[in-house]
Amino acid sequence: MTRITELDTETVERIAAGEVVTRPASVVVELVENALDAGTESVEITVENAGLDLIRVADDGHGMAREDAALSVERHTTSKIRDVADVERISTLGFRGEALPSIAHAARLELTTKHEESGVAGTRVVVDGDEKRVTAAGRAVGTTVSVRDLFERIPARRKSLAQPKREFARVSEAVTGYALTHPEVRFSLTHDGRNVVSTPGSGSYTDAVLGVYGRETAGESTTVDHRADGIEVRGLLVYPSITRAGPTHVTTAVNGRTLRDSTIRGAVREGYGSLLPDGRYPVAVVDVSLPPEDVNANVHPAKEAVAFHDSDAVANAVERAVSGALSTEDLSRTADLALDLDAAVDDVEGSAFESIAVIGQFRELYLLCEADDDLLVVDQHAAHERINYERLRAAVGDGGSNDGTGQGGVESADIEPRRLPLTASEAALAETHRGDLAAIGFRFETDRASLRVTGVPAPLGRVASPEALRDALDTLAAGEEPTDPRDELLKEFACHPSLKAGDALTTEAATRLVRRLGACEQAFACPHGRPTVLRIDEAAFARGFERPNTRF
Ligand code: ADP
Ligand code: MG
Repeated sequence: MTRITELDTETVERIAAGEVVTRPASVVVELVENALDAGTESVEITVENAGLDLIRVADDGHGMAREDAALSVERHTTSKIRDVADVERISTLGFRGEALPSIAHAARLELTTKHEESGVAGTRVVVDGDEKRVTAAGRAVGTTVSVRDLFERIPARRKSLAQPKREFARVSEAVTGYALTHPEVRFSLTHDGRNVVSTPGSGSYTDAVLGVYGRETAGESTTVDHRADGIEVRGLLVYPSITRAGPTHVTTAVNGRTLRDSTIRGAVREGYGSLLPDGRYPVAVVDVSLPPEDVNANVHPAKEAVAFHDSDAVANAVERAVSGALSTEDLSRTADLALDLDAAVDDVEGSAFESIAVIGQFRELYLLCEADDDLLVVDQHAAHERINYERLRAAVGDGGSNDGTGQGGVESADIEPRRLPLTASEAALAETHRGDLAAIGFRFETDRASLRVTGVPAPLGRVASPEALRDALDTLAAGEEPTDPRDELLKEFACHPSLKAGDALTTEAATRLVRRLGACEQAFACPHGRPTVLRIDEAAFARGFERPNTRF
């Protein structure tokens, strides 16, 4: 068995350690990490008064033998690394040998443990101030650490804490993060006698999300498990019918270490791409695993960040995994027509467009379609925008990326030159983006405050108006510098009125439109992330009309 040893000075100096215990949540994090490092299947966390009176973490991991238990509360003692070289390849959550002694310094600590290989009794270690007592104790294999009266001896620290509610929110957020990224471990968090988090440890991300976010969110999700170039991406993606205003609900972990990683969060959002409305974020859980030597875990004093040796590779792997997992899913929205949640969960198999029949049009705007047991309602403008966007993108080549070669591009038609008055900054913007504008079919000459349009886009058999160039400039001017200006232009242009289908469609034209939507790479959202299709399943009608839910 691996034994605890004291680190040498060189190693201690190499480790980025600051103050380890600053608030109840940091105690909880350290104890949970120890439990996970011990290979536990279950972590039971009990907290009283936001952790100020009591924090108790019990696990069923491998436990400690008596000498190790006695050593574990001393400074710089660890079983997880041996020397300075190990710091470069950390594969455990802990490695600094600082947590237990720091906690013992800030509170009264009691540890009860029994090692899996020791036949005899377990061990209890109590540290109170300078006093340490080691005695025999009864316990099944595993470890329980109780921390009482946190910061009672350090009033300045206690004063710097927020309201108990806020401190407990941090505890709960930390536990939730670990529960979501470790679905194989059962988590339970109890606060002042009330159970607030509970996951089953079944190994399924869906079950973990169910325990944390509830049924509606878990039901609207797909799992991801993708491995390429030594990087494994596992987790769960909630469909974009549920979105959030910020990235807080994109829970990320690196080699099982739960932390807020902006590289991964950014790549997850990129992976959702145009499925997400502007400025919205998904709910997702993503754990990235890579060889320990490809990531530096020793960069943050509280272990709240890691550094990837190749963060582009990680971002690419995550983005590909996410977009791949979502593109095989049927993301048509289930209408919230008095649907109960059980029924909303089960209908995401196969393509919805194979056996589709257009049965009518509502308000010259929505196409009503019969698709197996469902009624699909297609927003014909949104559908047309999606189709236009994918065709235009295909014309421009490789996702509309700006390679500066001017190769490919949307067909362009010569027109009688037309003068567009512009502001000086608009003219400058047009100059800056000449290549991007040319790729979507605009040709023009600029002088100081005006511009002569000589060619306009003529894709898909329609000729755009010269004024469309002004709209394109608005798109480029809006907000911050777009990361992919050509793609922004395509999205905007795909929605331009001059490219849209007429309002009154014949049944044949409507059927063609729906089929073409079905052939799109991402059929269920317009280029700006609004849904294209609503689905109402037959069961919803049956319930609404109080019929027994059978067809005969
Ligand atoms: P670190 O985790 O950085 O090694 P800690 O102070 O958190 O430092 O723990 C010291 C040592 O005590 C660990 O290396 C481990 O061997 C042992 N230990 C702590 N908690 C547990 C636990 N829950 N189960 C088994 N061993 C533990
Ligand atoms: Mg530790």
